[in-house]
Amino acid sequence: MPAYRAPRGTRDLLPAERPAWRALADLARSLADAYGYREIETPLFEQVDVFERGVGAVTDIIEKELFRLQPRTDDAEAWALRPEGTAGIVRAYVQHGMQTWPQPVRLTLLGPMFRYDRPQAGRYRQFWQWDVEAIGDAGPAVDAEIVELGLRFYREAGLEDVEVHINSIGDPACRPAYVERLTAFYTRHADELPPHERERLAANPLRLLDSKDPVLARLNVDAPVITDHLCDACAEHFADVRAHLDALGVEHRQEAGLVRGLDYYTRTAFEYYRRGREGQQQALGGGGRYDGLVELLGGRHTPGIGFALGLDRVILAQQETDLEVAVERPPIAVVVGADPAGTAERLRVATDLRAEGLHVRADLAVRKLGRQLEAASREGAHFAVILGDELSEGNVQLRDLEAASQKVVAIDDLPALLQRKSRGG
Ligand code: AMP
Repeated sequence: MPAYRAPRGTRDLLPAERPAWRALADLARSLADAYGYREIETPLFEQVDVFERGVGAVTDIIEKELFRLQPRTDDAEAWALRPEGTAGIVRAYVQHGMQTWPQPVRLTLLGPMFRYDRPQAGRYRQFWQWDVEAIGDAGPAVDAEIVELGLRFYREAGLEDVEVHINSIGDPACRPAYVERLTAFYTRHADELPPHERERLAANPLRLLDSKDPVLARLNVDAPVITDHLCDACAEHFADVRAHLDALGVEHRQEAGLVRGLDYYTRTAFEYYRRGREGQQQALGGGGRYDGLVELLGGRHTPGIGFALGLDRVILAQQETDLEVAVERPPIAVVVGADPAGTAERLRVATDLRAEGLHVRADLAVRKLGRQLEAASREGAHFAVILGDELSEGNVQLRDLEAASQKVVAIDDLPALLQRKSRGG
């Protein structure tokens, strides 16, 4: 056992798995570009307040899972590692006066998030999300555009079976009356509720709708459904979002239990699942509208909507599906030499080839040619460039390690030849 290990709930992403991650990040970036989302980076930590207000104090994320940083002095601000991207992005929108930019401001961020969760499969303490946020557009068209963008990402990542569940959770005009009905419903069943859920009923009754508890699952079948109690404006918004999705040919499932359960989340809420894997911990991503959030973080009233897609779960899904993902690319050639001590020459030739844009490594160990060739083969290089006596006449031996053939090549011709081979010619 090594003395030190990566902290519980975190893991090292080793070189062999990085190409698959890089491919996902490249896909996210190219889709963000195509849809007009501009990149933003926010700090990995913020004032705790930003999250307490921006995510909501009565959520698991804040109550139980926030990674709070220990201040070094008594008067230091209280900070926490970011558990999600939206709050920091909206804080930046307000701080930098983005309400004076052309609206909506479309922003995207891809990076690590931190939650002090109980680690299990697909649930880590450091994980990665791809976020997009469109701030300053009340929808409904942009809602549909964002939902479609998420589906497109999964499809292009090779997950054909991803579906979107969607709901409307109303707004401050209609939700309070619905919450009252819901509270009355649960209160009638209060003696059946487990203690933890009874506490949540007092703090935030909407949360009981997506509870993991089997008692609640049974009760919720008969619970009042929010879309039956929307005000006209919210009902029309929801119908329009769905009409836009229909116009795009995007199938979507209305899911009454899908709630975000906070005052400033409004109207559209959605989550992505693989067909047949709709369990609590299995959402691949989710998002929704937050028309109250900018104001809550000190800005003017501004509508907004966004999503966060969890990349760790996409990688896991790709592995489960045995999808062919990007793999590491070996060098096209390794420069080796007959003279074990000729490292300067090998390094010079490799450096010149790299200056031509080639992916080439030199064998820099002082060892026999046979050992150098063996290492080049093990690494998966297509060619070995062998430096020997011919070098004085401007030639090298080019060994095709795959075909086990060898020929003399003028060193000046090497770049063009290797470039052709790199392109598969
Ligand atoms: P949420 O903001 O909780 O809706 O999370 C959005 C997405 O991020 C989820 O659907 C997951 O794919 C991913 N996610 C959230 N928490 C974790 C975690 N602890 N480990 C891995 N992925 C996570």
